[in-house]
Order: sequence, then C-alpha cells, then structure tokens
Amino acid sequence: MTPFEEFARVIENLALGEFKAAERELLNVVRRRLHRPDLPSLFRAARMESDQDWEASLASVKDSIMELNSPALTELWETIVSQWSGPTEYMLHADQAEARKKLPLFRHTSDKMLYVTIIIPIKVCNYRCSYCFLEHEKKPEVSQLELVPLMIERLGQIPRPLFVEMSPLGDIIAIPVMWPLFAKLNALPNVKTVEVWSNLSRDLDGIFQFINPTKVAIVATYHPTEFRKFNEDKDKFFRRVEILRDLVQDITVNFVASTANMPHYDELKARLDNIGVHLSVNALLGARNGDGKLYPEGYNVTERETIQTWMDNDFVATFMLNARRENVRCSAGKDHIQIDQQGNITRCEFVHERYGNILDDDPYIDTVERFCPTGGCSCKIYTGFIEPCSAEYARVGTKNHYLCHSRFGTSDQRS
Ligand code: SF4
Ligand code: SF4
Repeated sequence: MTPFEEFARVIENLALGEFKAAERELLNVVRRRLHRPDLPSLFRAARMESDQDWEASLASVKDSIMELNSPALTELWETIVSQWSGPTEYMLHADQAEARKKLPLFRHTSDKMLYVTIIIPIKVCNYRCSYCFLEHEKKPEVSQLELVPLMIERLGQIPRPLFVEMSPLGDIIAIPVMWPLFAKLNALPNVKTVEVWSNLSRDLDGIFQFINPTKVAIVATYHPTEFRKFNEDKDKFFRRVEILRDLVQDITVNFVASTANMPHYDELKARLDNIGVHLSVNALLGARNGDGKLYPEGYNVTERETIQTWMDNDFVATFMLNARRENVRCSAGKDHIQIDQQGNITRCEFVHERYGNILDDDPYIDTVERFCPTGGCSCKIYTGFIEPCSAEYARVGTKNHYLCHSRFGTSDQRS
C-alpha cells in the first residue's frame, strides 16, 4: 500500500466518523513511512488532551503535521485533502460511508445550536449602494414566500436549538409582506435566535409587532453614501442602533470597505465603541467599486493594510483580503444548513450538494466538519464555520460577532 493509499484510508475513516480508526491509520503512516518516532506520542497527547474526543484529536494531529513542517508529510496530507475536497470525494467512499456520515435532521437530538439560513430571493431595497450585488426589483415577488410558512413549521420539529436567519436578498424594512412570518418563528420554542439584517433607514417597530425583540439578533448595515440628508440620517442610524442595543438579543453593525465608504470608518468605529456595539467589516469582492478594478486585489497597499486592522480576527482578515483559500475545513453542513425557496437543504450558499428537503421526511446533516469543495467561500458570514475560526473563536449573537476562546466571558471581540 502506498502512503497515499494509507492516507486515503485516514480520510475515509474520517468521513465515516471512525475517528479512532483514522488516528490508527495516521500513526501507521507516520511510523512506517516517515520514521518519526516522536510523532505517535504527540498524537496520543493530542488525543488525551481532547479527552477521547477523536474529532478534536485529529484536528490537533493535523495542526501538529503542519507545525512540524515536514515536506513529505505535508505533501501527503495536502494531496489527500485536495482529493477529498474535489469531486473524487464521493469516489473515495462506499455507499455505507455516505450513509454513516449523516445524521437524520428530525431525529438527531442535541443541545448544540444549529444555524439555519432561509434564503428568500426577494430583491427589494430602498437603497442603491454601488457595491450591491442585487438586480433590484420594484415589488416583492410574493410567490417566493409560498412555502416559507410550511418550512418554518418543519423547523419546529428539529429536536435541537436553532438560530434562524430569515432575510430577503434586499432589505427587510422595504418588504412588510414578510413581517408576519416572524410571528411563526416567534412561536417556536426551539428557535432561540432570529437574525435580521437591515440598513436601519427606518425603525423596526413594524417587525417587533410580530416577534419579541429579545429573540432577535440584528445585523445593521451602514451605508453612508446612501444618506440623503447626511448628518440627519447618520444620527438617526446611530440613535436606532442605541435603542436596539437595549432591546434585542444582540446587535452588530456591518460595513463594506468600498473606497467611498472607507473615510467614514473612523467615525463609525468611534461612535459604536462609545455605545458598546461591535463593528464588523466586509472587504469588497469582485468588480463592485465602480472603478473597473477587481477586488480584493484592487486595494492598494495602504488600503489593504488599513482594512486588515479593521477585521474581526487575523483569519477573517486573510480570508477577506485574498480572493481564494484552498482546502479549508468547514462545519457548514454540520452546524449550518441553508434552505432555498423550494425547501432544498444545502450546507451553504455555494456548495450545491443536496441534504434532502425540509418538507420531506428524510433530510440529514453531517456528523463531521468537511473540506470545502469550492476552493474559496465568498461570503464573510460563513467565516465563523471555517477552521480555525470555528475552533478558536465563538460566535455570540449574530453570525458576525466573535469572541476569542482565551477571553470567553469578557466583552472583547478581537484577540
Ligand atoms: S442596503 Fe444592502 S440590499 Fe440595499 S442596496 Fe445597499 S447593499 Fe444592497
Ligand atoms: S467554506 Fe464557505 S463555501 Fe465552503 S462549505 Fe464552508 S460555507 Fe460553504
């Protein structure tokens, strides 16, 4: 058996959830092929540290391999990783493996929060930000909402706590026809948090007629170029943020680092620090700055260095300021699912492998984090599901809001 085949068995066992077997295979590779007698004890130490948690143990082992900087071992690992993350992933596993790495969504009981995103492809918004990806519609296409009440009912049958984002692609403020749906989420005891994104150009009182604010986490988006009466609209935004801070479960503000927006950062940050609200920054992606350049490559050195200091943590900075990241391991599919308007479940927006349909009897989720087959995830809100963010940081409140492990229990967002 070649070392590559041995590694393939490691990965296959990982996919099966057979962590003990995967670790044993890994030890075999190291012992027989790489003649590193110190490594097996290192692996065992990692396992003991993780208290027999095989999944955590293997994650530590992977880190150990990378840290050892052994070109042979790293090459082996990366080769298998790239095979596992591509279409051949499915060729590596038998049908049984496919079945065993899944959990039935409606029958798996757990105390761990499952993040659910219901995609509502209504593209109505009162703003026209230059960097917006929408093809704006004038009126909501209400037929897109037809199945949503049924989907929400099905969410109530999932035996674990849920964090649900039910946002349109436009702005919820401009789509009152969606607001009554919040009453259905409000009524479900297993729905612990409902995330709502809004530019806060108006009050959210209309929505709070349908949902208790204490169940809501807000991502308020700050778009200074869209303010008609600049100072007046800006002050209204901060006033609303401050009111919501005392009303809802969590609020963060999200800001796109377009070159037109960048001069507004310092004031925004100072005012939010003053009222104790976390600011999360998105780097531009694609050709959305209106200057013909592709981003994030289009940032000059000074802009790039500046934006780097604005990011939640170093991983997010690297992720957002580089167009692609290969071979990331991600818990979307295990800790997060996305539901489209037909009820189809996928692990996220970018990977189209179906995990069944929420309206059927047999949807499933993953038991383990898996490598991402896209070669690069282009949305910042998923960073919390990607290693090492998923391991080192904890999300609190909105999906944009992190605490570093070493500082749990404090209000610091950045390590
Ligand atoms: S507020 Fe958001 S949805 Fe509306 S135009 Fe701006 S980026 Fe697009
Ligand atoms: S890294 Fe992004 S694209 Fe890949 S699985 Fe995770 S959320 Fe989806």
